[in-house]
Amino acid sequence: MPLEQQVETRGSAGGATRAYLTVFGAPPSPVTVMGFQPSLGRRIGRALVALVVCWALAAASVPILLAHFILVPGLVAAGLVLAYLRFRTTRVLTRIYGACPRCGVEQDFEPPRWGRKVDCPRCKNQLTLEESPGNAAPASGGSAPPSAVRG
Ligand SMILES: [Zn+2]
Repeated sequence: MPLEQQVETRGSAGGATRAYLTVFGAPPSPVTVMGFQPSLGRRIGRALVALVVCWALAAASVPILLAHFILVPGLVAAGLVLAYLRFRTTRVLTRIYGACPRCGVEQDFEPPRWGRKVDCPRCKNQLTLEESPGNAAPASGGSAPPSAVRG
């Protein structure tokens, strides 16, 4: 994969923010998220890379009989979607550090390329990265403060 990430700290080290890892059946766990904000030109570049890669694969799939009915339009569409998603990505995550809400082990998590799914390397559970813990709270009605869950 030609994904060259030039992660450089260009003086602005204020990239650490607070987020939460959530998993079904456990209270959200606060984590520290490191990231950087790509410039507009860089976002366009990343979008074009996704577009070119997918469309190159689509072109390569044209000679494949039968499969090209699915592969070619699928890859063309995937290229557009990926390009759009990458262009929309105003923040690229480079590091997630904190405790897993499931197993409680403090560690580094692999940042998601896109989306919000994070895998815990310890307990193999799929976690969801949330900006605030309220997004994953079960609909209990009202705005009561989150009390300690006794389980
Ligand atoms: Zn875990």
